[in-house]
Amino acid sequence: MTDRFQFTLNATDGAARTGVIDTPRGQIRTPAFMPVGTAATVKAMMPESVRETGADILLGNTYHLMLRPGAERVDRLGGLHRFMNWDRPILTDSGGFQVMSLASLRKLTEEGVTFASHIDGSKHVLTPERSMEIQRLLGSDIVMAFDECPALPASEEEVANSMRLSMRWAQRSRDAFGDRPGHALFGIMQGGVTRDLREESAKALTGIGFDGYAVGGLAVGEGQEAMFGVLDYAPGFLPQDKPRYLMGVGKPDDIVGAVQRGIDMMDCVLPSRSGRTGQAWTRRGQVNIKNARHQDDPRPLDENCTCPACRSYSRGYLHHVFRAGEMISGMLLTWHNLHYYQELMAGLRAAIAEGRLDGFVADFHAARAEGDIEPLA
Ligand SMILES: [Zn+2]
Repeated sequence: MTDRFQFTLNATDGAARTGVIDTPRGQIRTPAFMPVGTAATVKAMMPESVRETGADILLGNTYHLMLRPGAERVDRLGGLHRFMNWDRPILTDSGGFQVMSLASLRKLTEEGVTFASHIDGSKHVLTPERSMEIQRLLGSDIVMAFDECPALPASEEEVANSMRLSMRWAQRSRDAFGDRPGHALFGIMQGGVTRDLREESAKALTGIGFDGYAVGGLAVGEGQEAMFGVLDYAPGFLPQDKPRYLMGVGKPDDIVGAVQRGIDMMDCVLPSRSGRTGQAWTRRGQVNIKNARHQDDPRPLDENCTCPACRSYSRGYLHHVFRAGEMISGMLLTWHNLHYYQELMAGLRAAIAEGRLDGFVADFHAARAEGDIEPLA
């Protein structure tokens, strides 16, 4: 245990890295996948079950929590860790991205963003200073700088102007965050798919100095090829000795490709959200449990998986409870999906540490190419 936030790089394999982030609330093994606990819960999961899947850290959403139940209320109730019964590290986003994607009547100025809540239409203001205050009230261990991400499609000039505004906000975030030992502030690189803008953004951020750096403005609908195109060079603009976080990614093959390109941390709602819509992720790709082919199938989702859904239930049962709208459907499939994601991360970490990432990635793609097990005759 440490009273400081500290990143230690243990091994590299090509551009890929594995290491450990030490925080006063525990270690985060990297590359790390962070389940998303939007409204102070990873939907359909008890926090101790989330931990059992292997998660070291959760993500909380500033935008959602500031609107409901409110950051000041969470603070009065003991902070987000106590409130949601998760005593390990929590990363909170800045709220900027979700204001742009969820709120209405948005007005963007140099000062910040004014918007109406998607819940009740009430008016709110987010600025770099207010975002830092909210994330402090929540008790977040890793705080994200407040940034702006242009809606796509955007011209290169719009992307450049937006990036430069985000860099001014990054400085204001740094100033407002102050000196908080044991807590980290991450800067967010912007610049769309333009190499020069990414480099300019990275220089501005490293000039300010952060505890870690996110690659922002990706996974917003540009497609995997364009995302990997940016990740082929963007992580190289960032310091070797600080964690690199790719926000909002992704599908298992996005994660593997990002790790190969030097990303240390990721988050995505996909494993939990798809668990509630009857979609499972396995070593052999995606399984749609809604399909009639599963209704008489006594076999588990994945015979090699050790999660509760695979250990104790058949595909036939999982199909039935989904069809019947039973809550256990979302619970079991979410658990399985989060378990699969964490097992993938553990496999990536071990492969990087042992210098066999290429073989691991080849096996990963080969298993997926096989597809799901054949239906029973
Ligand atoms: Zn499973």
